[in-house]
Amino acid sequence: MDLISVVVPCYNEQEALPAFYKEITKTAAEMSYVKFEFVFIDDGSKDKTLSMLKYLHKKDERVRYISFSRNFGKEAGMLAGLEAAKGDYIAVMDADLQDPPSLLPKMYKLVKKDGYDCAGTRRTNREGEPPIRSFFARMFYKIINKMSDADIVDGARDYRLMSRQMVDAILSMKEYNRFSKGIFGWVGFKTKWLEYVNTQRVAGETKWSFWKLFKYSIEGIMAFSTTPLYISSIMGFIICLAAFIMACFYLIKTLVFGDPTAGFPSLVCIILFLGGIQLIGIGVVGMYLSKTYLETKRRPIYIIKETEEKK
Ligand code: UDP
Ligand code: MG
Repeated sequence: MDLISVVVPCYNEQEALPAFYKEITKTAAEMSYVKFEFVFIDDGSKDKTLSMLKYLHKKDERVRYISFSRNFGKEAGMLAGLEAAKGDYIAVMDADLQDPPSLLPKMYKLVKKDGYDCAGTRRTNREGEPPIRSFFARMFYKIINKMSDADIVDGARDYRLMSRQMVDAILSMKEYNRFSKGIFGWVGFKTKWLEYVNTQRVAGETKWSFWKLFKYSIEGIMAFSTTPLYISSIMGFIICLAAFIMACFYLIKTLVFGDPTAGFPSLVCIILFLGGIQLIGIGVVGMYLSKTYLETKRRPIYIIKETEEKK
């Protein structure tokens, strides 16, 4: 019998957890032809998430938990879960029931029988989301797909079921700045996308503010593309060319028509423009440098405080 590991990162999910546990065990009962383990990651929650997980573990030994020493973010949670998962097939799922567990039988069939390595999910609408947020999200996917060779699908959720082989490939990527939407795409493998209509979370609230998402998207671009670095070089080249043409133009003009000295405003504009471009360029280089700096420190991506095995 196959074992399916369900990895669930949880941060302050005390309101959603009971409903989630009820749903996932219902699906597990329906799929009596496989075994299950549920790997919950308590990402430094400040509410009763951990004690609830402990309670669930006592009640149901399929429930495992890993508790972090502080909040390390969802990426770290997913990584810890994937590393701990023992299953032949591994699913990643949110705790807020925005990822319906009822899709699991279909996903399992796709990967087990139909020759896919991964069954991923895409939401087809962005309802219940502020319009500006949707707009920026769409732009982000357009930009990152132009810049990067990893295929990053618009609207793809982190909810997916993967084969052991694919998970091992993901775990072989040891980078510190983990952008999993990119990592999932980068490792390749055959993915079947299931589409479903976005639903609201059952309880609690989203942990993503607009600013957090914005920072996350910049990190995604930097983790999976070096195009911004080229852009500043290309811009420098274009500006040099423009300056050369302008120099020729004014040289000829002065030689032919004489020199009524003028052009103070245009000079100021040019200097400011160039200063701005230079600062942007340095900023871009600096961002990559800072990422490299963090990467070379080789810090652990998460720190475990306790698990169901080690209390
Ligand atoms: N999450 C986490 N650590 C964090 C933020 C979120 O483990 O720092 C978990 C959260 O508990 C949930 C999942 O990641 O299970 C998705 O979070 P959320 O529902 O807030 O994101 P959204 O669905 O709005 O994108
Ligand atoms: Mg959610």
